[in-house]
Amino acid sequence: MELPLSRTLIFNRCLRASCPNCGKEKIHHSWLLIHNKCQSCGMLIKRGNGFYIGPICLNYGIVAFGLICPILITSFAFNVSIYFTLVLSIILSLFCPIIFYPYSWSLWLMIYYLCFPKELYENRHQNSDDLLFDEDERL
Ligand SMILES: [Zn+2]
Repeated sequence: MELPLSRTLIFNRCLRASCPNCGKEKIHHSWLLIHNKCQSCGMLIKRGNGFYIGPICLNYGIVAFGLICPILITSFAFNVSIYFTLVLSIILSLFCPIIFYPYSWSLWLMIYYLCFPKELYENRHQNSDDLLFDEDERL
């Protein structure tokens, strides 16, 4: 069955750090503050109850395995000073998660909604009973 919002469209919207549902608004209003809901369509971005774990894991994984490990391997391979390597690793591990923060949220939303595209408002049936979107509001 064809979805109104295709996975390609979801992918493109999340690449721009925009709402995967409408694509009109950014998911963050400052570098470290992510909107709870989309300002345009009202879709929950922070779905609560552990949803924030996804961006944290992505952020950690990218910094640890995509940045620090290659630095350590390169430093050991080319006999770079251990002091320099550790200082560089510590500085990067402190600042890169902050720099990557909004993108980790965007990447997490991309992964989540590419796996579950029917949870987007636009992809729901009119009489849908599985309102997972609003689960926090119903509690
Ligand atoms: Zn929206």
